[in-house]
Amino acid sequence: MIEIDGSMGEGGGAVLRTALALGAVSGRAVHIYNIRAKRDKPGLQSQHLHGVEALAKITGAKVSGATLQSTEIIFEPRKISSGRYHVDIGTAGSTTLILQIIMPAAAFADGPVDIEIRGGTDNPLAPPIDYLKNVTLPFLRRMGYRGEVECLRRGHYPRGGGIIRAKIEPVEKLRAVTLVDPGRVLRVAGIAHAVRLPAQIATRIAHAASLELIRSVSAPVNIKTESYPPEQDHHLAPGAGITIWAETEHGAIIGTSALGRPGKPSEQVGREAALDLINQLRTGMACDRYLSDQLIPYLALAEGNSEITCASLTSHTLTNVDLVQKILGVKFLVFGELNHPGRIAVSGIGFKNPSSVKS
Ligand code: ATP
Repeated sequence: MIEIDGSMGEGGGAVLRTALALGAVSGRAVHIYNIRAKRDKPGLQSQHLHGVEALAKITGAKVSGATLQSTEIIFEPRKISSGRYHVDIGTAGSTTLILQIIMPAAAFADGPVDIEIRGGTDNPLAPPIDYLKNVTLPFLRRMGYRGEVECLRRGHYPRGGGIIRAKIEPVEKLRAVTLVDPGRVLRVAGIAHAVRLPAQIATRIAHAASLELIRSVSAPVNIKTESYPPEQDHHLAPGAGITIWAETEHGAIIGTSALGRPGKPSEQVGREAALDLINQLRTGMACDRYLSDQLIPYLALAEGNSEITCASLTSHTLTNVDLVQKILGVKFLVFGELNHPGRIAVSGIGFKNPSSVKS
């Protein structure tokens, strides 16, 4: 049984997600205690609980301790099964964080995994759906991952009600990747959205971000807007935000996002995202500070030597490195300091799908 102290490093939900995801992939039981010990409200919140339950369904796992606010669970996975799955978080809890717990295992199922998740699509402190679709998944596809996601309806705090659908095809193995020097920026793209709000909010956000970007980045900038006339706007709660990403010569995609909230001017939302992207591009690194922590489990599972550079070695990234080393027995080399640009290398274990799937 894999024993994990959930208070390690960052001590948040990501420790739970990574530990269970890798337990599920490798078919090993996981005992995790002190879950989210470093958060104001420790233990499993609704989003985490639904993630655990969804992963349990897909892996036929026996789970004990999976209740709201629980700080300790035992997860014993069996076989990763293809099929259609539905998850309704029932709150604005993040749909993309549910996918984060499921995605590694789904790649090693015995057939396609189709999953529809209802909840929040644009949450603070979680990947916005546009980021998952345009930054995380394209990177993973370079490694041979076969997954697509679409947003059928956006969900914002407090009512949620967003709907996303993901389809993940199984692979035999994941490929290593080396992405150290991003090269020059070829283009910046993005989506600014406003739901249950006037269309001009999305336009103002996109405009402010574009103005800031064209001052600093010598590449075309194309930020689309998404908004709805009232009669076609079936979202449950108002919300606005922007996700932007820079695509580079050597295939890097560096992204960021910002969310609106009541009283925050639209121009501030657009500028916030643009300035953050510009600052990350200035580091000259190939992965943004969110992608790096998300990639760690995949780099360790892939076959061969991977190496990436990241705009910031966040505590989420370093925690994932420690955790994945412990679970998979790999050794990462990490160059750089906490919250500074860095470089990460690992020789992956070349995990092979136990079902006879050919990539
Ligand atoms: P908590 O323990 O507070 O509930 P959590 O379950 O929300 O935490 P964290 O441990 O904080 O999870 O992990 C959040 C994940 O979301 C990380 O993988 C991080 O990279 C990602 N993330 C956060 N903000 C963004 C963003 N703006 N864009 C992309 N990814 C993000």
